[in-house]
Amino acid sequence: MDLPKVADIVIIGAGISGLSVALPIAKAGLSVAVLDKNEPWSDASGANAGTLSIQVKRAEVLSLIYESIERWKRMPEDYGIEVGFGQPGGIRVATTEAEYNQLEKSVEVQKNKGIDVRMLNREAVRQLGPWLGPNVMAGSLCLYDSYSNPLVAGNAMVAGARKLGGVIAGGNRVSEIRRNAMSDIDRFSIKTVSGDTIHASHVVNAAGAWAGEISSMLGVKLPMEVDVNMLTVTEPSPPIFNRVVTHVGGILSLKQLPNGTCLIGGGWQGRGSVSSGTKNIDYERFLHNMRVAADVIPKIRDLHILRTWAGFEAVAPDALPIMGQLGEDDHVWTLGCARGGYSLAPALGARLAEMILNPSKRDTLLQFSPQRFAP
Ligand SMILES: Cc1cc2nc3c(=O)[nH]c(=O)nc-3n(C[C@H](O)[C@H](O)[C@H](O)COP(=O)(O)OP(=O)(O)OC[C@H]3O[C@@H](n4cnc5c(N)ncnc54)[C@H](O)[C@@H]3O)c2cc1C
Repeated sequence: MDLPKVADIVIIGAGISGLSVALPIAKAGLSVAVLDKNEPWSDASGANAGTLSIQVKRAEVLSLIYESIERWKRMPEDYGIEVGFGQPGGIRVATTEAEYNQLEKSVEVQKNKGIDVRMLNREAVRQLGPWLGPNVMAGSLCLYDSYSNPLVAGNAMVAGARKLGGVIAGGNRVSEIRRNAMSDIDRFSIKTVSGDTIHASHVVNAAGAWAGEISSMLGVKLPMEVDVNMLTVTEPSPPIFNRVVTHVGGILSLKQLPNGTCLIGGGWQGRGSVSSGTKNIDYERFLHNMRVAADVIPKIRDLHILRTWAGFEAVAPDALPIMGQLGEDDHVWTLGCARGGYSLAPALGARLAEMILNPSKRDTLLQFSPQRFAP
């Protein structure tokens, strides 16, 4: 694909973060080019479980996750795209007394933040989930917990952004970003390894696990870590359970998609690193993940596993999103590094687009600004 010579905004990274900024920017009529070193959607966003759970989120992002799920739901109206969205509600289970107490506290915090969530005792949780195992002693229910199928959402978002005039170009690794004299349209020259250059007024770093690398090209140090999360998909089966299921103590997220496959994850760590370029399964942890899943929903045991994989998840040191102006230049932006970034990106992306388009919006969400890590 030929790259344009000039764009109002160049976004580096065509995952959920980059595309969530590109869609509203393109809709506002600005020219946007999203560059990815590989195929669009081929890293964390393409590897993720698609769980949009309010109940597992930290208090600091509860209002944002609520907004983000609404934005996921409205993608057909806002952008004319189907993203495999479903809102079956979620049950978060406890299997011990200590977990029960932890769940009660977490529900209180969520209620105080205005989230519609409630505790269910053993009988009530079983009425809603007769498929739950005998060790589940209680749960909490949030009817807003949802999912969006990443296998559907990626292609749809790329197509939606292109329809609005955006250029989404895979196979374009950014290797250098040069700041020029302050003419507005030629403020930055963004170079790719294949020798192309795009001149742009704004740059957005949405490079996921490589955001630190892009940030260094812009002369800013971005502290971040990278997890290696594992995920498993089973063969399709007739319906077994009908909620997004998470666990307050064990690491678990479980859902059955409309095609009958079950996705089993939650954040069990594989092996590998960005520097070595490896992301492998850790078999001991994989087995733990399966045991926790089968303890919570015993019928899962009957299913064959089709595939298990691992992917990188960039995380800030405080596990909160990093979004906003990057460094001193108010034409350089970043978005990413949120724990559960798939769920949060539509809200964060829309807000970042507003900041870029409208200077009066730039003093919002400062708690997530990269400035919090400034020395
Ligand atoms: C197995 C797994 C399960 C997960 N499950 C969930 C879940 O259920 N719910 C949830 O909310 N979150 C989940 N997450 C986290 C979520 O996937 C991530 O937070 C989110 O996808 C990050 O999106 P991103 O766009 O910031 O990064 P990415 O999707 O990684 O996109 C970054 C892009 O930048 C590109 N890039 C990097 N360097 C360059 C360069 N120099 N030039 C050009 N392009 C470059 C990369 O190729 C990549 O495509 C999961 C993660 C994993 C790995």
